[in-house]
Amino acid sequence: MSTFNITRVAVLGAGVMGAQIAAHLANAGISVLLYDLAAQTGDPNGVSVNAIKRLQKAEPAPLASKEVLTSIEPANYDQHLDRLKECEVVIEAIAERMDWKQDLYKKIAPALGAESIFVSNTSGLSIQALAESLPEALRSRFCGVHFFNPPRYMKLVELIATSYTSSEVLDKLETWLTTTLGKGVIRALDTPNFIANRIGVFSMLAAMHHTQRLGLGFDEVDAITGPLIGRPKSATYRTADVVGLDTLAHVIRTLQENATEDPWHAYFKAPAWLQVLIEQGALGQKTRAGVYRKQ
Ligand code: NAD
Repeated sequence: MSTFNITRVAVLGAGVMGAQIAAHLANAGISVLLYDLAAQTGDPNGVSVNAIKRLQKAEPAPLASKEVLTSIEPANYDQHLDRLKECEVVIEAIAERMDWKQDLYKKIAPALGAESIFVSNTSGLSIQALAESLPEALRSRFCGVHFFNPPRYMKLVELIATSYTSSEVLDKLETWLTTTLGKGVIRALDTPNFIANRIGVFSMLAAMHHTQRLGLGFDEVDAITGPLIGRPKSATYRTADVVGLDTLAHVIRTLQENATEDPWHAYFKAPAWLQVLIEQGALGQKTRAGVYRKQ
């Protein structure tokens, strides 16, 4: 791995983050294969195709021009696994479940190129545990690369090593993320939810707790946790809808199950209404209904 010329990247998962990461890469001149599960009806690439269409329709501005979007190719694991070897970097951005990620890793690992770097965009699952599900030969080329939402605008990326990750891989990724993708990289330890989400989720849960305790409305809490305190786009419940309520619930569960030594552990609990909305399929912006019904 003496040179690190990245021209083609695979993104696994065409959801909220995968699609936006693909757009960010395409805007930086990189060809992208955007994978998702094969759609059962019609075009098997339907999930990725629809995600690419949504990038063009994004409000207030498209996330990439029509021309740039042609450098994102839709793909699925059933038909295009062999194309993974074309990619110098593979970024996994599927749903925040350890078991689903590990199952996918077993399926795709044999198809990766002999020098490909493989990274997970997990919000806070153990990178070490994810690495354990990979073949030994791949472990030194695997780590966490945690982009924030929306990846086009959020400068921070957390880079998380395991005990196997080679320092050469970390250095190369850091250079690429900063120079080509314009990110500010911090190296985080492999602790539950790393740094930013450990703090961010705690503060969100505190706001949710006090909403209930004081009998406040979601919009009232957003009014005082957003623009008024200088966070124009970061009000509590609007952020929850942007993140995705199912993803938020998974990220809270990571703290509940793994941050047991934390003095605040008793607060790492999702409010009951969050589960009710999830069961109704109201997952936030991605389903056009969440805490706020119409989006
Ligand atoms: P999402 O729910 O929008 O998309 C998840 C994608 O995973 C979907 O396209 C789905 O088809 C696919 N998927 C679901 N189950 C699968 C399986 N068993 N095998 C393969 N693919 C499967 O989720 P997201 O918000 O894009 O999150 C993706 C990852 O990025 C998660 O690890 C999440 O924690 C992390 N992340 C999310 C945010 C955010 O704000 N949403 C921010 C940073 C990191």
